[in-house]
Amino acid sequence: MKSTLHNFGAGPSILPKEVFEEASRSILNFNDSGLSILEIGHRTPLFQPVMEEARTLVRELMNLDDDHEVLFLHGGATTQFMQVPMNLLDELGVAAYTETGTWAEKAIKEATLFGKVEIAGSSKENNFRAIPRTLRINPAAAYLHITTNETIAGTQWHQLPYDAGVPLVADMSSDILSRQLDFNKFGLIYAGAQKNMGAAGVNLVIVSKKILGNTSRKIPTILDYRNHIKEASMLNTPPVFAVYVAMLTLRWLKEKGGIGAIEEINNAKAKLFYDTLDALPVFKGPVNREDRSNMNAVFIMEDAGLEKEFLDLCKKEGMVGVKGHRSVGGFRVSMYNALPLESVMAITDLMKDFANKK
Ligand SMILES: *Cc1c(COP(=O)(O)O)cnc(C)c1O
Repeated sequence: MKSTLHNFGAGPSILPKEVFEEASRSILNFNDSGLSILEIGHRTPLFQPVMEEARTLVRELMNLDDDHEVLFLHGGATTQFMQVPMNLLDELGVAAYTETGTWAEKAIKEATLFGKVEIAGSSKENNFRAIPRTLRINPAAAYLHITTNETIAGTQWHQLPYDAGVPLVADMSSDILSRQLDFNKFGLIYAGAQKNMGAAGVNLVIVSKKILGNTSRKIPTILDYRNHIKEASMLNTPPVFAVYVAMLTLRWLKEKGGIGAIEEINNAKAKLFYDTLDALPVFKGPVNREDRSNMNAVFIMEDAGLEKEFLDLCKKEGMVGVKGHRSVGGFRVSMYNALPLESVMAITDLMKDFANKK
């Protein structure tokens, strides 16, 4: 095993080393309190500021206006697949969904439990290798749902449908905080933390107050966003450690210069990776070029018989997490915020070496 590893895993994934170090210290002694972060009450003066800082940092980094509320909730993004329609879609209502991959399909499946779903655009026939260019949105739809980055298919929306005419709802699990977007134009944004902003176990939800309270459905207390807003994300015991790790990651991002600064690095990483991929005929990128994800680069080999050899080489050279998703095969290199440019340089060098010997 190599001593330096490069972690390209898709999630839970790499986080900044400084975050791992600080979080480790706090497990033994949090803020010189003599107590572990794991043993303090969530309503104590020790933990309260953690939640407050996490929410404030999101607001600051994403430049959110007062209509948008920041929540940290339990359950992973998968819980949001049902919590979103439960709060926003009436039984007799319609919601518009884009069908761009495995994650979008899962979101659609849950929404159908709560109301009518209309597919506004789909790339299913194209094996999810592209993002739909034109959308047909029912003006009566309660919202339009998109998955800004399809982690498995390796696609990303680069032109956002801001002018859909209905509230825009986005699953940003795998590209949250990775690029500048007009965040105030979204009705609701949700993201599981474990890809780009922290440890598994917590969701970030950003919701416009304007779009809440429009359904007649009875919503269980813990699933009603309005209750979480009222209680400042402390309705019940939050996943304290996951919130703490997210807060540390948000601090790290702020110190790095914020979303704009990380976006530049992310663009450089993606450019280096895809330029290399396109220059080497041994490798093949199945995704439509304009729709390629800057977070998850999916690729295969012209000769599938060589895939095992390349995978073994990656392993030997300390490249971790490059095996493609079981449903797609091939390879996937995830380049989240915390992945340094040096890691992308290392794997692209390896790809060049490998290609030159063939
Ligand atoms: C990983 C992922 C999810 C699922 O997240 P969980 O936290 O495991 O529920 C949903 N959507 C996208 C885009 C993802 O990448």
